[in-house]
Amino acid sequence: MAERASYDCVVVGSGPGGATVARELARGGARVLVVERGSADPPSGRAGQMLRELFVPRRSAHLTGSVLVLGAATLGGSSMYFFGTAWEPPHDVLAPHGLDLRADADALRTELGPAPLPRELLGPRARIVADAAGSIGLEWAALPKFVDQDRLRRDGLGAYRAARWTAREFVADAVAAGARVATGATVRRVLVSGGTATGVEVAAGSRRVQVRADLVVLAAGGLGSPMLLRTAGIAEAGRDFFYDPVLAVTGSVAGLDAGPEPPMLGAVDRLCDGYLLTDLCRPRWLHNAFTVAAGRPDRVFAYRSSVTVMVKARDLLSGRLTARGGVAKPLIGPDRAVLARGAAQAREILRAAGARAVHQAGYVAVHPGGTAKVGDVVDTDLRTSVPGLYVCDASVIPVAWGMPPTFTVMALGRRLGRHLLGAADALPAKRAGSADRTG
Ligand SMILES: Cc1cc2nc3c(=O)[nH]c(=O)nc-3n(C[C@H](O)[C@H](O)[C@H](O)COP(=O)(O)OP(=O)(O)OC[C@H]3O[C@@H](n4cnc5c(N)ncnc54)[C@H](O)[C@@H]3O)c2cc1C
Repeated sequence: MAERASYDCVVVGSGPGGATVARELARGGARVLVVERGSADPPSGRAGQMLRELFVPRRSAHLTGSVLVLGAATLGGSSMYFFGTAWEPPHDVLAPHGLDLRADADALRTELGPAPLPRELLGPRARIVADAAGSIGLEWAALPKFVDQDRLRRDGLGAYRAARWTAREFVADAVAAGARVATGATVRRVLVSGGTATGVEVAAGSRRVQVRADLVVLAAGGLGSPMLLRTAGIAEAGRDFFYDPVLAVTGSVAGLDAGPEPPMLGAVDRLCDGYLLTDLCRPRWLHNAFTVAAGRPDRVFAYRSSVTVMVKARDLLSGRLTARGGVAKPLIGPDRAVLARGAAQAREILRAAGARAVHQAGYVAVHPGGTAKVGDVVDTDLRTSVPGLYVCDASVIPVAWGMPPTFTVMALGRRLGRHLLGAADALPAKRAGSADRTG
């Protein structure tokens, strides 16, 4: 744990939301501590690390009905495993909720330059899916990616993970600007005194430490932040949320002999019907695990000829987080129906690609959010009813979603950082006061 006892701001969680707001605040001169329950181990690409960070029951993996909900516990949060898709914040959807992210999205776009990969950087699987979709009249549009294309050209398509932006880059920027980071440190509760947030209680190994801060920003993700809000007395957090369930439909294409390649490079946008269809390439061991779980162990050795279409649905707001942080949100009928329609179209694409042995794996969800919605638990400045306590992650998304949320969450983080630095009742005034107190 960092030794200083008092900060201008403690940011809980280092995913896209936490990393972006921490960077903004640190660059603005605030004394920031980022507390992250996961480790800073460098990504190895090995199965063991992925199991440790993404598949630990009741920590990063939650089973509800037939849906496995995942959220990574590591420095950088789920961005360490994300597919790098830079889906533009849907400004028309956000505007009615008082959220104008255009300036922040513009700045991030200028900085990171997300762009679709050109055809020569599509792997063979992505090309097959794109061409097959086109051949049956579906409009397959390339998706912008937070990916360093020069690096992909230099190191090959298998270097996709290393070529992708992750929130660790913004954490490093925050540290360069003076922020501190405590990893392997789990925030247990928000400290509230006289009705105002005054810091957090952190567990690190067997130690419990109280960290004082003028501002507390919860960025512990769609499942983590609502649980911490409840410790601050905000009982309504963690209800009626989305998780964007996903279903993978896979087949084998004769003559295909492909290795790992970038996933999710293009999409058929059927959000008007509640879903997206995209290409998907998983690491071999994960492909194998899902193939066995789908009851098709006979296809385990077909990795190199496999082609997958992912169906990502916009589920209805429903469910709740349990008192112990479990997810109680089984798929309901209308969501199953949307996934079934998407799966039927995915099968059509695979049929057009000449795939055989087509099968589908179980439901997975990697976008939990809407657990502390704008207009419900936080206001448009992401402020809760407890003075000094803010939320900045996928929790605050105000509507049923269905889109990759990372770009939106980053824009929210930049906007909140700017707001806190500029608001007369937030950071600057308090910083002057706390500088006197702590020297
Ligand atoms: C396999 C996969 C692929 C994806 N692909 C895409 C994609 O292509 N594009 C896209 O936009 N999105 C994608 N996503 C989703 C995206 O990664 C998440 O939506 C995004 O990371 C959410 O950011 P966040 O800041 O809300 O929270 P998170 O990334 O969930 O970060 C929360 C952090 O808080 C930490 N934390 C939680 N509780 C505590 C606590 N009590 N104390 C301390 N720390 C805590 C967690 O360990 C975590 O590091 C993908 C996700 C996965 C898993």
